Amino acid sequence: MKQKILNSVKVSFEAISLNEAFARGVLAAFLLQADPTVPQLADMKTALSEAVTNCIVHAYPGPKGPVRMELALLEGRVVKILVADKGVGIPDVKKAMEPLYTTGNPDERAGLGFAVMQSFMDSVRVSSRPGRGTRVTMLKRLDG
Ligand code: ATP
Ligand code: MG
Repeated sequence: MKQKILNSVKVSFEAISLNEAFARGVLAAFLLQADPTVPQLADMKTALSEAVTNCIVHAYPGPKGPVRMELALLEGRVVKILVADKGVGIPDVKKAMEPLYTTGNPDERAGLGFAVMQSFMDSVRVSSRPGRGTRVTMLKRLDG
């Protein structure tokens, strides 16, 4: 099912941790028009943070590149959040999405980012090509 897009914004920023809060702020500002509940907004900010953090931590082991964020409000009060990078990509997406799987430093990373996104959003789709980048698309319905 393809819902009609009522409004959307696209933002691109550097994959550095300073921009995690920036991304959350843009989401909150964009969603003013949809008047989400406080818990709904908190859920979406948390999921967005995990996706953006992954771009910052994993996508660019060398020189930092861009993170593209697209936010959309779809017909039926559905919020769509897309986060994409042009980094190293994920060789096995299914495995990467398993809870506790991490290629990061185990002292710092729990391997739970994708699990958090899945629990706070209604759907999470990940597509990735090694050497080309990763794209995470998440949906949340604000009613019902
Ligand atoms: P946590 O999120 O709990 O700090 P984590 O980031 O390792 O730990 P996930 O967010 O679930 O856990 O991601 C799992 C794995 O998927 C990562 O360890 C990394 O190997 C890979 N990954 C996730 N996002 C990206 C990305 N944007 N680019 C490259 N690899 C990624
Ligand atoms: Mg993570």
